[in-house]
Amino acid sequence: MGVRDRLTRLNGSVPEGVELVAVSKFHPVEALREAYDAGQRIFGESRANELCDKAKVMPEDVRWHFIGHLQTNKVRQILPHVTLIHSVDSERLLRLIDSEASRLGRKVQVLLQLHVAREETKYGFTPDELLSLLTPDLLAHLPSVEVAGVMGMASNVDDEERIRSDFRTIRSVFDMLRDGIMSDVPGFKIVSMGMSHDWPLAVDEGANMIRVGTTIFGEREY
Ligand SMILES: *Cc1c(COP(=O)(O)O)cnc(C)c1O
Repeated sequence: MGVRDRLTRLNGSVPEGVELVAVSKFHPVEALREAYDAGQRIFGESRANELCDKAKVMPEDVRWHFIGHLQTNKVRQILPHVTLIHSVDSERLLRLIDSEASRLGRKVQVLLQLHVAREETKYGFTPDELLSLLTPDLLAHLPSVEVAGVMGMASNVDDEERIRSDFRTIRSVFDMLRDGIMSDVPGFKIVSMGMSHDWPLAVDEGANMIRVGTTIFGEREY
């Protein structure tokens, strides 16, 4: 089965109201084009150079999401191309994105990355860190950043209950923020969680954006 058919089949099972990010990292532009021709417009990349190279040759109306760990020295490079950065994992990065976006005279949407999984990644805020990071004072000093939600990953385990509980934790942090500090920010509405192997559980636990690569494009060759 090719990219088009896999994407069509996936779209048939993703519920309405859940946005699909096609994670195209490590795949050639021809594969992205096939997805584009099948109607896909949101693509997720995890490396700055790769995202910029692809953005230069893909159609203008692609919405590029950055989903990997973002080094501060790459912010300037990706900002002209991205519409959403999923992986803001430090206050320093958040402030830097704001100042670089100001410099360009634009606003950029970001998600704050939560670290709840047991192993997987060392990046992201713990729930407590994130809840205490966001203050009216900090938000007032980020005029060019729109904090649009949270992103996270579940533990890479077979135990379904464990995976669900990680997703539930991410969703509950989102809910606390939405009902608290972010309650008068209508754009705070994205819960990005779930990948090829666990997105149905993520959607079940309240994801409204999923990031799926392998199911659409096949295995990556690193
Ligand atoms: C690679 C990646 C994905 C997609 O993973 P698949 O298992 O191929 O669906 C999702 N989210 C992040 C942060 C990634 O780095």
